[in-house]
Amino acid sequence: EFGEDEGDESEWQVRPPVVTVMGHVDHGKTKLLDALRNANVVAGEAGGITQHIGAYQVATEVDGSERKITFIDTPGHEAFTAMRARGSQSSDIAVLVVAADDGVMPQTVEALNHAKAAGVPIVVAVNKIDKPEADPTKVRGQLTEYGLVPEEYGGDTMFVDVSAKSGLNLEGLLEAIVLTADASLDLRANPNQDAQGLVIEAHLDRGRGPVATILVQRGTLRVGDSIVAGPAYGRVRAMLDEYGNELDEATPSRPAMVLGLSAVPGAGQNFIVVEDDRMARQIAEKRESRERAAMQAKRRVRRTLEDFMASMEKGESQELNLILKGDVSGSVEALEDALAKIDVGSDEVTIRVIDRGVGAITETNVDLAAASDAIIIGFNVRPQGKATEMAEREGVEIRYYTVIYQAIEEIEAALKGMLKPEYEEHTLGRAEIRAMFRSSKIGNIAGCMVIDGVIRRNAKVRVIRDGAVVADNLDLASLRREKDDVSEVREGFECGLVLRNFQDIKEGDIVEAFEMREIPRS
Ligand code: GDP
Repeated sequence: EFGEDEGDESEWQVRPPVVTVMGHVDHGKTKLLDALRNANVVAGEAGGITQHIGAYQVATEVDGSERKITFIDTPGHEAFTAMRARGSQSSDIAVLVVAADDGVMPQTVEALNHAKAAGVPIVVAVNKIDKPEADPTKVRGQLTEYGLVPEEYGGDTMFVDVSAKSGLNLEGLLEAIVLTADASLDLRANPNQDAQGLVIEAHLDRGRGPVATILVQRGTLRVGDSIVAGPAYGRVRAMLDEYGNELDEATPSRPAMVLGLSAVPGAGQNFIVVEDDRMARQIAEKRESRERAAMQAKRRVRRTLEDFMASMEKGESQELNLILKGDVSGSVEALEDALAKIDVGSDEVTIRVIDRGVGAITETNVDLAAASDAIIIGFNVRPQGKATEMAEREGVEIRYYTVIYQAIEEIEAALKGMLKPEYEEHTLGRAEIRAMFRSSKIGNIAGCMVIDGVIRRNAKVRVIRDGAVVADNLDLASLRREKDDVSEVREGFECGLVLRNFQDIKEGDIVEAFEMREIPRS
């Protein structure tokens, strides 16, 4: 089954790093990925027009030797999200793209948090350096505040100034990726075993049938191998690289387009090579029924506003993640502004808008919501394609609004509900210890007089001696008047009490009873 590299570690070989490009919208991710792919063709890689297969590999020279890098290149980073959702790690390094004229923006922070959460080292590409307004120093300063300290300031993050537009310093970026991989990762894999890896993306091609772009993670995949990819299976009929060239084999970190599968697997699902076709079919069928069962189980897990409230109450979650979709950019901005102004009277609970956009709610939106436990807010928009079906399957809640204040009111109410109640102490009364009766059986009994208020059996108490608290937050083991157990004793009455887990009580001590009361929220 899918898992670790086999065999003796000494036989493993260095493999290229697999890189994901992340960053704020419009900061140049697509442009940079295109530029890097094309730069490689100019560098003399075989073939001609590059194909969009969801991942590609480039070669660069570092310290005199040729080094390869694999880039995951998927629109909207669906694969990355889907893989995260499936808990599979696809990337070794994240390139964080920050436009030098715009600086650090919300999704920049989002992206770096994702990378940090995945434990993936970050290389910062300071892009759009060709622009007159570009201020790369400012970007460095901003990111330092998020813990990414540039190497030149004594930190361990490499910052590279580039222009995806003019192609400036792309080599520098490639070098930084290789150096970061060498410095902080030990990327090796066993090429001499049955291949395993991940599906990056897949679709049904009219002429060629199911086509899947896979990333080999270990082993070597060869034409003719029998594979199982998610619920799909088959014999590898042909493999193509990013230039449309036929490949005979694919080694670790190599992406390849695979033809010959029985069905279209999902992005993020893994693939394995098995003995023969029959075995492949059996495993695929078993996987499919397992997947179906998992799906059904998942369907019961609904990520609704109510779920968030419940998890918040249990102290499990402090953040409400939202994805905003609206009919026009004005409404999305207005909604986001209004959300930012919600004050729930506590810093504990925060709203994070992890994505926003204009237009219908898409499968990509649902995918991201599922991966990051977010709720989708649709303002005058509806889902398109299979988005509804997918939301249903993934347990993602989509809430629809046509009036902004209504959306705000509901979210505000939910957030207030999420707050753990705050308590304040309320003193009930005090008793003075007049006499002690030692008892090894039930603990020392303090004979006392309630000097003000009331002492309650179920209250918390503290012991005060000469004005200082000598024990706090204690429970009573018993409270009696005469021979009877009582629930409370009022001012002016005598009583006998025993403290739980505290026997060092003395004549003259004051026992103060108090309770914690919930503070009502406005
Ligand atoms: P993405 O949303 O991060 O994928 O950003 P895009 O790659 O679509 O780029 C957004 C806009 O910025 C496009 O109009 C690009 O042409 C432009 N752009 C990207 N990189 C550069 C650059 O290095 N310099 C300049 N001047 N413009 C750039």
